[in-house]
Amino acid sequence: EQEEALSLKDLPAVTPDGLKIELWGNIAHPDEASAVLSSGGSGIGLFRTEFLFMNRNTPPSEDEQFEAYRKVLDEMKPHPVVIRTLDAGGDKEIPYLNIPKEDNPFLGYRAIRIGLTEEQLLITQLKALIRSSICGNLYIMFPMISSLWEIRRAKTLIQKAASQLDDKGMRYGKLKVGIMIEIPSAAIMAEELAKEVDFFSIGTNDLTQYTLAVDRGNSKVSQWYDHLHPAVLKLIAMTSKAAKTQKIELGICGEMAGDPFALPVLLGLGFDELSMSPPAIPKIKRLVRKFQAERAKQVAQMALSMKDADEVRQYLNEVMAKP
Ligand code: PEP
Ligand code: MG
Repeated sequence: EQEEALSLKDLPAVTPDGLKIELWGNIAHPDEASAVLSSGGSGIGLFRTEFLFMNRNTPPSEDEQFEAYRKVLDEMKPHPVVIRTLDAGGDKEIPYLNIPKEDNPFLGYRAIRIGLTEEQLLITQLKALIRSSICGNLYIMFPMISSLWEIRRAKTLIQKAASQLDDKGMRYGKLKVGIMIEIPSAAIMAEELAKEVDFFSIGTNDLTQYTLAVDRGNSKVSQWYDHLHPAVLKLIAMTSKAAKTQKIELGICGEMAGDPFALPVLLGLGFDELSMSPPAIPKIKRLVRKFQAERAKQVAQMALSMKDADEVRQYLNEVMAKP
């Protein structure tokens, strides 16, 4: 298995009937970028930046952040690197951010909500990100978008950050701006949101949690948590349709991207990119290289027509037993 994975490393993820898909890695620290490349990944689909803000008493400076972003972009060049702005709150605690003790932290003050409240915090991060764009192929991604106004406001802050860099005569390059689709309202409004951004990346961990009203970290209710639930699949399909109609890039960076059983559905829905934990890449690549894209389309439609998660799971078990 290990040897096969190694020979697979330099091959593209392409189906026997010629559909190519990018397999990217999720990382939470710059040191992990090399594991993406050695696993055969062709980009980073989610660079979580929380580590920069944790285990300290004040936020990291612009220069400190720039150094971390530059390192990853440089190492991955010319491959894309999707860097997500701070996704604090919810289950990710950062003491100095004045996140109140909340009854429902997952529904509370988190992610982009913090960035749009503490604007200077987000502007500093955006300045570091924009500066890093000269070092590689940068995609900036905003987490927990629920409404159009948040994107517009976040884009205004990008402009503000860029003009502050202009004032200092600092150089930067091209970059793409996108959002996570991880709240049902964003999936439902995807067509409108797609007009504002260059790419979508579906965060199925939170999308599943919010669609099914199941805490993603509570093992007592894990039986109710299932990214193969048809309601989740329908929201993913809506998001995909909107991305296709508006001709923007479509990816997924939740755990579902590395689930072999979900693969035919995701292939069939026309994803450009699947981003997963680096060790999952070889297995998914091997499956992509065996699965007919035409068949995947039929499987996706079939799964979407089913009535509950168990039915979908059983069907996909059969599909994968005899692809
Ligand atoms: C997600 O919600 O699916 C996701 C990728 O983000 P995180 O797990 O960091 O919330
Ligand atoms: Mg999330």
